[in-house]
Amino acid sequence: MPELPEVEVARRQLARWTADRPIVRIHVPDAAVVRRSLSSKPSDVLAGGVDRLREVVGHVPSEPVRHGKRLGWVVGPVGLLAHFGMTAHLVRRPPGETPDQARLGIEVADAVVWFVDGRRFGCVTPVPIPDLEDRLREGCGPDALLEPLDGAAMRTTFRGKKAVKVALMDQVKLAGLGNIHAAEACFRARIDPATPCASLRVDDWERLADAVLVQLRETVVAEDVDEDMVYVNLGGPNPFSVYRREGEACGVCGSVVRATELGGRTTYWCPGCQPARDAEPGVG
Ligand SMILES: [Zn+2]
Repeated sequence: MPELPEVEVARRQLARWTADRPIVRIHVPDAAVVRRSLSSKPSDVLAGGVDRLREVVGHVPSEPVRHGKRLGWVVGPVGLLAHFGMTAHLVRRPPGETPDQARLGIEVADAVVWFVDGRRFGCVTPVPIPDLEDRLREGCGPDALLEPLDGAAMRTTFRGKKAVKVALMDQVKLAGLGNIHAAEACFRARIDPATPCASLRVDDWERLADAVLVQLRETVVAEDVDEDMVYVNLGGPNPFSVYRREGEACGVCGSVVRATELGGRTTYWCPGCQPARDAEPGVG
């Protein structure tokens, strides 16, 4: 479930929790967290990867950067990429206290920042520092928060018959949105998530462009608290308007929120706020 806002919150936590402090120790309870590339498979473990990670010890980290759902970090001689898979998140604990499902720990003077990941789809990958920026962006479109598309650019980028909610999740076109925030953006824009891109009008794209940005910005602010984040799919609170609210009353119009499958993923929407479109090609 970590999408752009959750990774941005992790980036901010990592910056706050390690700024100006040299790394004193690396803990690697699960060596398979260090992979050859940003792979979801623990079997893609990088041979010698843990030794490479230990080269960060004694160095003060740079400010981490983010593109879409990926993090990049320079620590001394090592460039690190990370992605968060389905369940990875950061927690901070006093030295000597290891949380459940901890895969990697970065110890600074007063704390250990742990990469905790129950499903083990998340990973870190060491890369040469000169390659970091390219590897961070590899295969991705612009960052949906830092390099947002306006309505006209969205209309050009997302074409064809694909359902708009599915199209918004295509990282090659726009990096950062996943199942939750794509559906929430459609709700904010009052667009049925199943609408083919080609059926959306200019004003729909304008509303959707605004909705994506507001959705991401508001979620980052809401989630950026200085404590452990517990994702909604792991039993945390549900701050979302339609996600996982099937059968509940819409907070805007009172209609019953529904769920359907689009592109293989469960998609939530409000039939009152997001009425179905006819399939006429968009005009104007
Ligand atoms: Zn509604």
